Amino acid sequence: MLEAAKRVADKKDWIKGALSDWEIIIGLEVHAQVLSKAKLFSGASAEFGGEPNDHVSFVDAAMPGMLPVINEFCVEQAVRTGLGLKAEINEVSVFDRKNYFYPDLPQGYQISQFKQPIVGEGVVTIDLDDGKSIPVRVERLHLEQDAGKSLHDQHPNMSYVDLNRSGCALMEIVSKPDMRSADEAKAYVTKLRQIMRYLGTCDGNMEQGSMRADVNVSVRKPGAPFGTRCEIKNVNSIRFMGQAIEYEARRQIGILEDGGKIDQETRLYDPKKGETRSMRSKEEAHDYRYFPDPDLLPLKLDMKHVAEIKASLPELPDEKKARFVSAYGLSAYDASVLVAEQKSADFFEAVAKGRDGKLSANWVINEFFGRLNKEGKSIETTPISADQIGGIVDLIAAGTINGKIAKDVFEIVWTEGGKPAEIVEKRGLVQVTDLGAIEKAVDEIIAANPDKVEAVKVKASMLGWFVGQVMKTTGGKANPQAVNELLRQKLGIN
Ligand code: ADP
Ligand code: MG
Repeated sequence: MLEAAKRVADKKDWIKGALSDWEIIIGLEVHAQVLSKAKLFSGASAEFGGEPNDHVSFVDAAMPGMLPVINEFCVEQAVRTGLGLKAEINEVSVFDRKNYFYPDLPQGYQISQFKQPIVGEGVVTIDLDDGKSIPVRVERLHLEQDAGKSLHDQHPNMSYVDLNRSGCALMEIVSKPDMRSADEAKAYVTKLRQIMRYLGTCDGNMEQGSMRADVNVSVRKPGAPFGTRCEIKNVNSIRFMGQAIEYEARRQIGILEDGGKIDQETRLYDPKKGETRSMRSKEEAHDYRYFPDPDLLPLKLDMKHVAEIKASLPELPDEKKARFVSAYGLSAYDASVLVAEQKSADFFEAVAKGRDGKLSANWVINEFFGRLNKEGKSIETTPISADQIGGIVDLIAAGTINGKIAKDVFEIVWTEGGKPAEIVEKRGLVQVTDLGAIEKAVDEIIAANPDKVEAVKVKASMLGWFVGQVMKTTGGKANPQAVNELLRQKLGIN
């Protein structure tokens, strides 16, 4: 793990400045909304949307005398997430008040965890495009309340406040500064979201704000000590995060190469302009005056229950991917595609059960996912079931149909439904493996096209034309391997 701290970016990720090469250092603070019906300290609905101020209890509106009551389910969700991040679960943690003024924070403080978070150090393994996987260390995960929302576009000279989000449970997941490129940061957020979706602890819906990231960026000469960082607040899309990092790194390099120094500050990313701008400097940083919330006792976990939660965790993406590679003989890449969502992994396994893993993966990834994408459908709305795709795979494996006819069968099942085996039977799509019949077709084509026969002797790639002709006269049903072999034999091509 120490290697993660000392790691120097791959050369391909270095940024060329005017004077030297530079390396980007990134650490992320991800806010993930806990998937829960009710808020962290009140029974009000935590659902997204609704009319403004529909989901607000007296606690969320901070009416005098109201007391917070911890939502056990949210605590369990945080524990579950911590376990999914292979992190240390702290038996005792403490809720603190983080004091600041915001019009949409009626309490005048946020209940958060400071010195003693519920979850300590963990690790997220990120998968990069070149097939490499690397660890990114997690420093901590703590529970805290979300704030409300100020609405500035409802009235010409007044702002309104919507407290629906006020008091919703957030998990703040803080990484160590272990990432070295925008792509690594994107892979980290993607993986974190994937793990939480598997666990059912956060829906990861970034458009609805259920996941957002504060992005800490600094630059250094490769391998040198860390430089001063800037923090880009509240980035709510993975793509924008990548853009913000690239822009911010270049901005810092420009300043340093001009002989300047980086001021530690909080910045905002403007996706329309594609640039970051200063929000406040560290000098103006808040003194939050944290202190333990006197309304809440320290949170003490029943470690036996934690062990039960651990035992009940689903198989997570990394383990599933490893199993898909070893049990089904898939490539790491195909396995990654299949485990991206729990539902797609389950669908694949329903197809592959008792069948050839690679052939099943091919059909699920290329034909099925390809078609879903093309038609804007999902596994929930697919017109073709795992059973039906399995039926097609069976017919191919048994040599009953060839790959081309299989695609036709897929098309028929997709549009009309039905059992693949019956469709093949009824429509006479069974592959012609009878060598006599194929040979007859081959001989006819050769006899009818003496000019082409001369041509193919000079240019072997002409063979494809003959294959096409034979397939045409057999209605696409001939066994392609047999056609190829017979043609090569008769035309004298090796
Ligand atoms: P603070 O409490 O001031 O926010 P933290 O130590 O909690 O500081 O760090 C916040 C985030 O900044 C963490 O995700 C951490 O990984 C990241 N970070 C710390 N130092 C650097 C650095 N030099 N460059 C980039 N990110 C950094
Ligand atoms: Mg911090």
